[in-house]
Amino acid sequence: MKTILFNLTDTELVEFITKLRQPKFRAKQIREWLNRGAPDFKSMKNLPEKLRLDLDCIAQTLPVRIIKRLDSSDGQTTKFLLELNDCEQIECVLMRTSYGNSVCVSSQAGCAMGCKFCASTLLGLKRNLTVNEIYSQILVAQWELRNDKFSDKPIHPNGDANNNDVSHIVIMGTGEPLQNIENVIGFIERANSDMGIGWRKITVSTCGIVPGIKELTKWGRPINLAISLHAPTNELRSEIMPINNKYKLEDVLDAATEFSNLHNRQLMIEYILLGRKNKDDETELLNSTPEHAEKLSTLLKGKNCMVNLIPWNAVDERDFAAPSGNAVHRFQDILIKNGIHTRIRRERGQDIGSACGQLRLNNTKGTK
Ligand code: SAH
Repeated sequence: MKTILFNLTDTELVEFITKLRQPKFRAKQIREWLNRGAPDFKSMKNLPEKLRLDLDCIAQTLPVRIIKRLDSSDGQTTKFLLELNDCEQIECVLMRTSYGNSVCVSSQAGCAMGCKFCASTLLGLKRNLTVNEIYSQILVAQWELRNDKFSDKPIHPNGDANNNDVSHIVIMGTGEPLQNIENVIGFIERANSDMGIGWRKITVSTCGIVPGIKELTKWGRPINLAISLHAPTNELRSEIMPINNKYKLEDVLDAATEFSNLHNRQLMIEYILLGRKNKDDETELLNSTPEHAEKLSTLLKGKNCMVNLIPWNAVDERDFAAPSGNAVHRFQDILIKNGIHTRIRRERGQDIGSACGQLRLNNTKGTK
């Protein structure tokens, strides 16, 4: 098996390079390339060609390898399917937006949470990702931006962010971050210290693991917290999100509010709008009737929060349907009338299957 150089300490890297009868400074040069996200040795332009070829036979740069990439037709979203050393696959998504470059990273290979609308959980949980495996996802995005075919024609000329840097991170890819909290915290600390990404530009999204939220509160960094709520009552939430049988809606919201209040941050509430086709092929609203909107308003009244309404992104294996645009706007109007900040999440990269876990799932299906 090839040695993954990114996983070596500085001392180990020097040892590795010395064994190849190379001067020590080569280790420093390689480290710089690794920290920039170099996906292969041929990119390491200041190494002699012979060494690059030798390294290629015995080593790998990062603990993730790009096996597929998809660009949305507008060029704003790029989705990567990455392979880990044990052949597990994960996804990460780079979104070039008006406020900067945001990367959505995975925290686990697969997911154990069993949410009924989600593709990530269909094959169950394979394993937790290491800090290096999570961090490598932002390096992949960073390398992409620096060598970006889209970056010489900025899409948002008025955007304040440097076009070539990752500026925001959302831990919203495959997996439940609070089930892998130690490595997720390690990753965030490192993204902050090594890449200079501010706490407030990092968002952790959870389906509602109460002890994990409390641990984030104890940890004390002012990051953003997003709760995947998706239903305004325990009965309905338990039906679509099995985790609700363990941690009730009110307890999740209490823990999340405590976290956000501590840092004076707005809590993000994610709410997928779900429907189901009936036998006449009409879409019946599952969690998105005006009544649900009223209930959700009551639940969130007085909280410093922002509701992100997400039209469901279709997954073949899941028998839901997205409500019509009218139903979505009616739902939003009721929340706004009740004084709840609400926005409809812009669909990014729909043409490249950007919903959680879709690319990984489709690729696995294709190879079986
Ligand atoms: N486990 C974490 C983070 C991963 S999921 C969590 O639950 O928050 C990231 C977000 O995408 C969650 O809000 C999840 O509910 C949502 N999601 C999953 N599948 C989706 C789909 N098919 N369409 C739209 N949103 C989806």
